Amino acid sequence: MSCFVKCGTCEAEISVEKCVFATYTKVIDGKERVFCCLRCQQKFLEEQEKEKSKSR
Ligand SMILES: [Zn+2]
Repeated sequence: MSCFVKCGTCEAEISVEKCVFATYTKVIDGKERVFCCLRCQQKFLEEQEKEKSKSR
């Protein structure tokens, strides 16, 4: 069985079974986020910080 997840930034589909070691996962606010590459992970974190500074 193969399972697909979506990248949190560019919404690319990632095969968990195939790329279990190639995907980037990070727990943000108690939720596990999956990214297709390190760039997408950094972009997501940057946007989160932007939103935090906006809400102040
Ligand atoms: Zn991506």
